Amino acid sequence: MIEMDCTCTQGHHCIPTEVIEISDNALEKIADILSAYHRIFMVADENTYQVAGRRVEGLLQAAGLLSHTLVLPVPALPNAESIGRVLMEAGQDREVYDINAWSLNPDYILAVGSGSLNDTCRMVSYRLGIPYGIVGTAPSMDGYASVVAPLLNGRKKIVYNCSIARHIIIDLTVNAAAPYPLLLSGAGDMLGKYVAILDWEISRDRNGEYFCEKIADMVLTATAQCAEAAYGLEKREPAAIRAASEGLILSGECIAFCGSSRPASGTEHMIAQTWEVMDVEDGHVPNLHGIEVGEGTFAAMEIFRKLHRETHDKGMKGLIEKYLPAFDRLETLQKTLKLPFTVTDRERFVDGVLRGRTFRDRYTVLQYLYDLGRLEEYAEAAYDAMMEKHYFGTFRERFPDWK
Ligand SMILES: [Zn+2]
Ligand SMILES: [Zn+2]
Repeated sequence: MIEMDCTCTQGHHCIPTEVIEISDNALEKIADILSAYHRIFMVADENTYQVAGRRVEGLLQAAGLLSHTLVLPVPALPNAESIGRVLMEAGQDREVYDINAWSLNPDYILAVGSGSLNDTCRMVSYRLGIPYGIVGTAPSMDGYASVVAPLLNGRKKIVYNCSIARHIIIDLTVNAAAPYPLLLSGAGDMLGKYVAILDWEISRDRNGEYFCEKIADMVLTATAQCAEAAYGLEKREPAAIRAASEGLILSGECIAFCGSSRPASGTEHMIAQTWEVMDVEDGHVPNLHGIEVGEGTFAAMEIFRKLHRETHDKGMKGLIEKYLPAFDRLETLQKTLKLPFTVTDRERFVDGVLRGRTFRDRYTVLQYLYDLGRLEEYAEAAYDAMMEKHYFGTFRERFPDWK
């Protein structure tokens, strides 16, 4: 359990995670870390099995801890198909069925992968009441320590409560070898946190919503660390990979401390997740989460900049002002990083902003503008500013071979 005393009204934060191991050769420690379990069911996909799964399997087997392994075909989406497969294969068939046996279930589920596999295994863990852990294979999002999982249910994306990982194992050598689009996705997921915390502050001031200064500060520090690290990702500088990996884990931990994703998800996520849903509705595989969030972040920043210029609401102006230096830094970063965008069609962009307002029950600047009857005007202005200032090509143009 990880605990932290706090000055906020909760007074104390804790999460059931027992170990977070982030180091150069973290995989070597896996048998020690998981030594309390003896029927570990390992789940990977075809890609993650190659980059880490095979090694983990060998190490657990040698230590006598492994029950069996499931390798899902790619792309393994967090949907009923993947969850069903994991569930169906969670128990290992015995040659002779022993009617007196306690259970054929494993005593632990170990996901080897990133976003989708983590979310899939978390859901199965939660439903079966079996602890789970994650061996991360890419610093591509901040959900390793999260409390909820956004899962595809038919043509809908629904956020479900899920288990929190007991163990998070991040081998920096594995992370450093991750494909560049996944590294960019991790950066995109983190850059949005300035907007998320600003939205949270707005709701604290306007609605009296619970706010934790300490958690907000931790997220902002992790964000600054990741933004700095983003410059070194393409060259895979070890310090950059470490900083990005640690920042994403810390952000996830803050979500778990808070008990909701409020510190890590605001306007930028609600817009991005709406675009993801629009893809699902059209029958397409959604784009990388962090790439969409990166685009949503620049959209939100443009909305805030316009509001800062035009508003007579002193409280609002003051709050936005605090974040303008951070927004400037992100704009500079974008000129180097050239984070690719996926939504370039005006109508789709604006639709995402408008529908994003109610993506979940969370007060953000989108609701503030809607109440003023100005949301559509702001969405259109944000699109124009984005395309002029921050757009450097589409994801497909930049990574034509990405599947
Ligand atoms: Zn607190
Ligand atoms: Zn995210």
